[in-house]
Amino acid sequence: MPPDLPASTLRLQVDGAALTANWRALDRLSGSANTGAAVKADGYGLGIDLALPPLIKAGAREFFVAHFSEVPALLDHVAPAQVAVLHGPADAGQAAFAAASGIVPVINSVRQAQLWAEAGGGPCHLMVDTGINRLGLPMGALGDPAIAALEVDVLMSHLASADEDAALNALQLERFRGLAATVPARRRSLANSAGIALGTDYAFDLTRPGLSLYGGIAREELSDVIAPVVSLQAQVLQLRDLSAGDGVGYNTIFTAQRPMRAATVSLGYADGFLRSRGPGGTLLFEGETLPIIGRVSMDLTVVDASAANALKEGDFLDIPFDLPTVSAQCGLSQYELLTGLGRRFLRQAG
Ligand SMILES: *Cc1c(COP(=O)(O)O)cnc(C)c1O
Repeated sequence: MPPDLPASTLRLQVDGAALTANWRALDRLSGSANTGAAVKADGYGLGIDLALPPLIKAGAREFFVAHFSEVPALLDHVAPAQVAVLHGPADAGQAAFAAASGIVPVINSVRQAQLWAEAGGGPCHLMVDTGINRLGLPMGALGDPAIAALEVDVLMSHLASADEDAALNALQLERFRGLAATVPARRRSLANSAGIALGTDYAFDLTRPGLSLYGGIAREELSDVIAPVVSLQAQVLQLRDLSAGDGVGYNTIFTAQRPMRAATVSLGYADGFLRSRGPGGTLLFEGETLPIIGRVSMDLTVVDASAANALKEGDFLDIPFDLPTVSAQCGLSQYELLTGLGRRFLRQAG
């Protein structure tokens, strides 16, 4: 037996109370609709075991993942019938898995409807494309006998531009209303996080927020009601004194203009801290801003620590993670910032 692992040099704290509060805020904005939760990509990078309990505590009962491989982690927390797989069955093996496990497949095509029927069928969701042209049944295929034979629980569609004031939003709403009037289904669902902020016209029977559960501001209207959930810290491995003319990091893209103190931090692009967060970006020590100098590398990032007199090797720095602000600074989307968080962060409730 190897000894117990020492503490990690990278910490990711999930504020469960904020996650619970965010779900409840989105549920209120969903009016009379039920509110589910998109927990694909390991709960948007937080880790399923930390993301699910606060959502269940809040009242969430329906959970969406993208892949079948994501199902087992959810079944430690919820019953199979509470889990829907957005990508649907890609082959007979996946359809058989859905049938045997009791999870709910989302049917996105005539072929998937046939695979589901061949696997024995049963309640499923049906995703119809109303304008995103990504994954989902084309409206023209609704008359196919394999679709007509489905036992549809939730009739779904997905908004392409809910985060903007695009004319497409109203058009997709109108098309979805048309579907809701003609396609037999127990319930209807259109809105993601941004769609919830468009108003209760978009809510129907079930909403499917993801990003804003985890602190993302999908639309400006949500900035007052959504709280940050994730906070990140990385440890200083080494302090060094640079002389004027010393270059830092790969390709020495930074050169010290004067003597200065630099801190080398256990954080890199393998942790989801991509190179676009380098020059112009910062880390924080007790509220003091420490500019990043040189290239972010796979495991290491260097900051100018001249302003942090008290900083010692072994101290932890805060990694800025206000999602809309960081997104605007580095050009990554709020979704990419969350789902890119690497495996080396020690994820803890806190
Ligand atoms: C990811 C996803 C959601 C959640 O979207 P957010 O923008 O993160 O709120 C909802 N529905 C579908 C089909 C999705 O793929």
